[in-house]
Amino acid sequence: MTSTDEVRRAGPTEPVWWGWGPASEHEPLPDEARGLLARLGIPVRPTAPVPLAQVRLPPARLPAAARDALAAIVGSGHVHTHDEARIRHCRGRSTTDLLRLRAGDASAAPDAVVLPADHDEVLAVLRLASRERIAVVPFGGGTSVVGGLEPARPAEQPVVALDLARLDVLGRVDRESGTAELGAGLRGPRAAALLAEHGLTLGHIPQSWEYATIGGFAATRSSGQASGGYGRFDDLVVGLRVATPVGSWELGRAPASAAGPDLRELMLGSEGAFGVITQVVARVRPLPARQIFEGWSVPDFATGTRLLRTLAAADLRPTVCRLSDETETLGGLARPPHPGGPAAETKTAPDAAPDGCHLVTGYEGAESTVERRAAEVAGVLLAGGARRLDAAAGPDWERGRFRAPYLRDALLDLGIFAETLETAGFWATLPALYVGVRDALAGSLGAVGLSPVVMCHISHLYETGASLYFTVVCAQGEDPIGSWRAAKAAAGDAIVAAGGTITHHHAVGTEHRPWLGAEIGDLGVDVLHAVKRTLDPAGILNPGILIG
Ligand SMILES: Cc1cc2nc3c(=O)[nH]c(=O)nc-3n(C[C@H](O)[C@H](O)[C@H](O)COP(=O)(O)OP(=O)(O)OC[C@H]3O[C@@H](n4cnc5c(N)ncnc54)[C@H](O)[C@@H]3O)c2cc1C
Repeated sequence: MTSTDEVRRAGPTEPVWWGWGPASEHEPLPDEARGLLARLGIPVRPTAPVPLAQVRLPPARLPAAARDALAAIVGSGHVHTHDEARIRHCRGRSTTDLLRLRAGDASAAPDAVVLPADHDEVLAVLRLASRERIAVVPFGGGTSVVGGLEPARPAEQPVVALDLARLDVLGRVDRESGTAELGAGLRGPRAAALLAEHGLTLGHIPQSWEYATIGGFAATRSSGQASGGYGRFDDLVVGLRVATPVGSWELGRAPASAAGPDLRELMLGSEGAFGVITQVVARVRPLPARQIFEGWSVPDFATGTRLLRTLAAADLRPTVCRLSDETETLGGLARPPHPGGPAAETKTAPDAAPDGCHLVTGYEGAESTVERRAAEVAGVLLAGGARRLDAAAGPDWERGRFRAPYLRDALLDLGIFAETLETAGFWATLPALYVGVRDALAGSLGAVGLSPVVMCHISHLYETGASLYFTVVCAQGEDPIGSWRAAKAAAGDAIVAAGGTITHHHAVGTEHRPWLGAEIGDLGVDVLHAVKRTLDPAGILNPGILIG
C-alpha cells in the first residue's frame, strides 16, 4: 500500500502476504513435532510459497472513471490498485485460501482496495457502487475462514475490497452504563489498548484477535476464548451503526427493548451482505484484577464432557474452558509451541498411552470472585475424578494461545495440511455429534489415503450445550483442496444429521452455505433474501456470501 494507509497497516506486526503473522514470528516446526509427524506416518514435502512477483492476478476490471469517482470520495491516496494491495485482500485465511495464495493463485483478487475514512464515506462508496454495479466486499482483518471474502459475481463485474482500517477510533466511553463506541476497523489489540487506557476491556479474545476487527467480530458472530466469562461477541453488542446502499441504520438504544423483533440480530452474522457495520457500541467491563489459568487431566473425553455439563448446569462456567479429546491431548495441540516458552509442548509421544484428556480452565475478574470461582470449579472437577496438572500447564496454554496459526504455516512449509472446523450442539446430542463429525472427517480423508489425525476440543460452554472444535492434520496428497472440500462436505452432512449447527462462530460465508437451508429452513433463507433486497437492491454487497 502507499501513503498513510501504508503507515496504518505496515510495521512489525503486519502479516506475511501468504500466511499468518509477521515473518519475525515464524519458526520452523520444532524437532519434537517433526518426530511426531514421522511416527504418525505423515510424509514431509517441503513447499515454499512462490515469490510475490510470481503471483497471478486477473487483469483489473475497474473502469478509470469509477476509480476516479471512488478517489473523489475517499481521496486518491486511499484507492489502491497495485498488485500487493490486491493480493493482500484476496480471500481470507482458511488453509485452502493459503494453499492457493502460496501457489501463486490470486485469481479472486479485488480490482481495487478502497479505504474510507468514516461512515459518510462508506455510504457514498455504497451509493456509487450501486449505481455503477460494482461489487463491494467489506474487509475487516481478512481472517475469514469460510470464504466470506470471495464473492460470486459475473467475471466481468468489477469488485472492490472496502477495507475499514481507517475506521479505527474509540468514540464515547460511557463508564456509568459500561458501554463504548468502537470503530469497525479496530483490530483486537488496538481496541484492547484504547479501552485499557480507561481501565476497561471487551474480554473478546478469539484466536484471530491479532488481526480480526470489531466490525468483523460483529459481522460473523465471533466467539472468543473467554466467552464463558464475557459472552460471545454478539452478547457484547449493545448498538450498531450501519451504512447500507439505501441509507444509514442506527440500531440499539436501550439495554433491552420490546419494540418488535431485535433488528440488531439481522446485522450480527450478516457477513457484509446487508450493509457495512461502521461502529459498534459494545458492553465493556473493568480490566480484570486477577487472572488464573489452570491445567487438569480428566480420565477420558466422555467423563470430561459430563463434568463440563455439570459445571454449566451449576452456573459455574469458567471464563475460559477447553477440554481436549484423547487425540488432541496426545498431539500436544492443547499447548501449542510459543517462542520463548519451554520446549515441552510437543513432548508427548504419539505411541504413549493417553494420560487422560487435558482440560484448561481460566478465570478473570475481581480478586475475590476469581479465587472463589476457581475453588468451586476445582471442587466439582476433583470430585469427578480430575487431576490437577503442574502449575505451568495453565499459564503455558495462555502464553501459546495465539500460536496455532503460526504452527499451521510451519506445517504448510513442510507440505502438511492442517485445518479446523467447528460446530455446536445441545448436551444431549454432543457425544453423537462428536463421533459423527470425527468419523466423517477421518473416513473421507482416509478414503483417499491421507491418514488424517482428527483432534477435537470442547469450548464455549452454555447451560444447554457447547461447541466442538475439530483440527485435522494430514498429508496434502495430490489434491489437498479437493480432498478437504470432500471431507468438509462429509462433516457438514454429519453435523446436520446429528442436529448440530453448521457453524458456531466461523459464520457461513460460501463454505457453509449449502447447509444453511437445512439449518434455518427454506423460509429462513427467503427471509434473508427479502432483507437483502430491501437493504441492497442492486445486490452489490458481498454477492454469494451468506445467501446465494
Ligand atoms: C487462525 C484463525 C483463528 C480464528 N479463531 C477464531 C476464534 O477463536 N473465534 C472466532 O469467532 N473466529 C475465529 N476465526 C475466524 C475469523 O477470525 C472471524 O470470523 C473474525 O470475526 C473475522 O473478523 P475480520 O475482521 O477478520 O473479518 P473479515 O475476515 O475481514 O470478514 C469476515 C466477514 O465479515 C464481513 N465484514 C467484515 N467487516 C465487516 C463490517 N465492518 N461490516 C460488515 N461486514 C463486515 C466480510 O465481508 C466477511 O464476509 C479465526 C480465523 C483464523 C484465520
